[in-house]
Amino acid sequence: MRMLEHQGKELLRRYGINCPKEYTAVTVDEAASVAGETGYPVVLKAQVLCGGRGKAGGIAAVNCEKELRATADRMLGMSVKNEICRCLLVAEAVDIAREYYAGVTIDAAAGRPVLILSAAGGVDIEHTTAATPEKLRTLHLSSLSMPRRHEILEELRLAEIKGDDLPKVCSMAQRMVEAFFACDCTTLEINPLVVTADGICLALDAKAVIDDEALARQGLQQTDSYPASDIEKRAAAIGVNYVRLDPSGDVAVIAGGAGLGMAGMDMVNNSGRKTGSFLDTGGGISKATMAEALRISLETPGIRGVFINIFGGINNCAEVARGIVEVVDADKPDAVLVVKMRGHSQDEGWALLDERKVPLIRHGTSEDAVRLLTACMDGVRHGHTAS
Ligand code: GDP
Ligand code: MN
Repeated sequence: MRMLEHQGKELLRRYGINCPKEYTAVTVDEAASVAGETGYPVVLKAQVLCGGRGKAGGIAAVNCEKELRATADRMLGMSVKNEICRCLLVAEAVDIAREYYAGVTIDAAAGRPVLILSAAGGVDIEHTTAATPEKLRTLHLSSLSMPRRHEILEELRLAEIKGDDLPKVCSMAQRMVEAFFACDCTTLEINPLVVTADGICLALDAKAVIDDEALARQGLQQTDSYPASDIEKRAAAIGVNYVRLDPSGDVAVIAGGAGLGMAGMDMVNNSGRKTGSFLDTGGGISKATMAEALRISLETPGIRGVFINIFGGINNCAEVARGIVEVVDADKPDAVLVVKMRGHSQDEGWALLDERKVPLIRHGTSEDAVRLLTACMDGVRHGHTAS
């Protein structure tokens, strides 16, 4: 999981790495109010996951509240490389003397983590890497023993980092390596790592990527790095994969497995209708999970039909049916539901759905289910219910 800059810096601070004084803001008023805490001038930074914000207009220094309001208004909601900016970082402006680069990542070719250091930090690091790779110094790491201080100092000298900067940058690099392993990172990068005119060493930007397989142990969720909608949070809470699709789509797909779900989406979209949401229940779902999954889909704005496609292997069709029945009985949804369900405990599941007259495909194909759904939805639109 990639983290936003402000989250990466929180991680760095926990390991004793200094960052500028800064606050997040999600509205113009909030940005103006926290700027009072840092004092002008301040730097406004779009909190997006993509790199190269600076060059894309996502970083701006402002000198007064009027300028801040105009800039914050422009940045909130702006698209940076197709990513909408929903949060700003309001940071004290720093008087930069020198910009360095420090990163820890996995060297896939060597199969080992590597510390990368360079005196040529800043927004052109990709260019530096390509044009003058000799300006990057690398030190391979082991999770079993931390690199010695003299080893890092040697690489910093070869990178032509000099004088008083050497011990300061070295300490920061040591802390980064410690944070990289402790937080299960696959990448932890500070670019630029700056030394100010007053000789203070700071992380001015942070990019942290946490190994997805380690999120639980780190107490994190996939949606943490992005302000999730309430519906997305509900889906995360029950451990299903929910994706909001085209806002003009009126069909929700719920499937027991991502492949089945994607095939179902293709069928719906090929039939001339449009999918508005996708939900993969995963295996072993309970009645309660199924009920909540269905409610999440029904409450997605614009949804008028739901295609539920379950293969009963690890999933139990009776349990799935009980979840559907709960929603049908309690919420009496207006949307059309069509279920295609076969496998483990199918007869019990089918009987439950038959009692509630939920349109059901027993032995037919997914295409048959989509045809039935489309016909039912057309029927509802024309004012008579399909049987
Ligand atoms: P990126 O473009 O997404 O990598 O964003 P960064 O946070 O790395 O900022 C890009 C560049 O903006 C940095 O390399 C700095 O040169 C400049 N910058 C960011 N914050 C400040 C600041 O407080 N003062 C000054 N002078 N420059 C800054
Ligand atoms: Mn940067």
